[in-house]
Amino acid sequence: MTNGLRIAILGAGGLGRGMALMLSKRKGFTLVAMADSEGFAYNPAGLSLEALNPNGQIQQLHLIPEFGVKTPTAIADLMVNHGDAIDAVFMALPNLPVDFYANTIQFIAENTAFQGVMVDALKRTKAVELLLPLNDTLAENNILYITGCGATPGFLTTIAAVAAQSFVELEHIDIHFGVGVANWEQYRATIREDFLHLEGFDAERVAAMSDQEIEEELEKRNGLIELVNMEHADDIILELAGICDRSKITVGGLVDTRNAKKPTSTTVTVKGITAQGESTIHKFVVGDATTMVDNVCGPACGFMAKGVELHNYGIVGLRTSAEIMPRFSAEGLVLAASQNMIQPQAVSV
Ligand code: NAD
Repeated sequence: MTNGLRIAILGAGGLGRGMALMLSKRKGFTLVAMADSEGFAYNPAGLSLEALNPNGQIQQLHLIPEFGVKTPTAIADLMVNHGDAIDAVFMALPNLPVDFYANTIQFIAENTAFQGVMVDALKRTKAVELLLPLNDTLAENNILYITGCGATPGFLTTIAAVAAQSFVELEHIDIHFGVGVANWEQYRATIREDFLHLEGFDAERVAAMSDQEIEEELEKRNGLIELVNMEHADDIILELAGICDRSKITVGGLVDTRNAKKPTSTTVTVKGITAQGESTIHKFVVGDATTMVDNVCGPACGFMAKGVELHNYGIVGLRTSAEIMPRFSAEGLVLAASQNMIQPQAVSV
């Protein structure tokens, strides 16, 4: 392959465009396609940052000269027409309603010639649960789908999975994130989905809220969203990987929607008992200068490359990011197998 892995990004908002930047700075990746709700752009020779942002201004995909196509069914049209010329896909779509990813993935697997790797940065436990039954469909269509490849779940979850290896028993895993964005409109889906976890809100209510109403809610909170005990897929992902029961995992954070500076440092704290019987913690602190793009798109980029490596070994179906880290116990392996997560024909990594 002369131009590196051929990557498509579904979703061209904050993280989709962040991934375009990330790919341009990593070696061995060529961004060939991007899709959003108004259309897509496809160039087998590569979509440059200059094409996506002429004169530093964001260009709508369907208006990119020569390569843009306007269509209300962009994902379907892109993947049906060009799926066989794409190696890996980053899903940077909103996940409202909660089954949007599951439906989109099923469509791609069953109706297009795509046979590569897909990774997501999904956040909700429920969303990941809805993906599990797609294992066979993905495998039959020669697709490897790795879920939970963003920051949390993703970067921070896999750090917890590796840190757990020092212990003989896990007591608690806590992920606490600090996120700063200058303007919530840069990351509409991300901020909307954060609202789901606040008292008095649920998916239906958030989906029905206008941007103006979101703005008013943010105004009441001075732009800050404090999140505690979130329904976050780090729990199911670490449980399926055999690290610990999901009841031992907590996720929360503080999001400042008016300031690019993080309001607090992001940490992963893994508490466990050593082989000598001592209770202690590992604490990992994420660099404050890193942004959401660094910590979501960077790991997702790495998981795409890892996914292609595993796919080349014949691994297909549905996997989680933590599952391809060291396992904590063989019991976890049995749990994953009972969830039909293991492909018997593809165990020889
Ligand atoms: P965004 O709102 O900025 O962008 C969403 C994009 O999806 C837009 O370009 C929109 O046009 C496109 N889109 C919407 N519906 C579509 C459709 N039917 N067909 C094609 N395109 C469609 O979103 P964002 O803030 O970049 O977030 C993207 C995702 O990343 C969200 O699901 C968010 O929860 C997730 N996220 C994960 C993490 C993590 O650490 N795991 C962190 C932040 C965000």
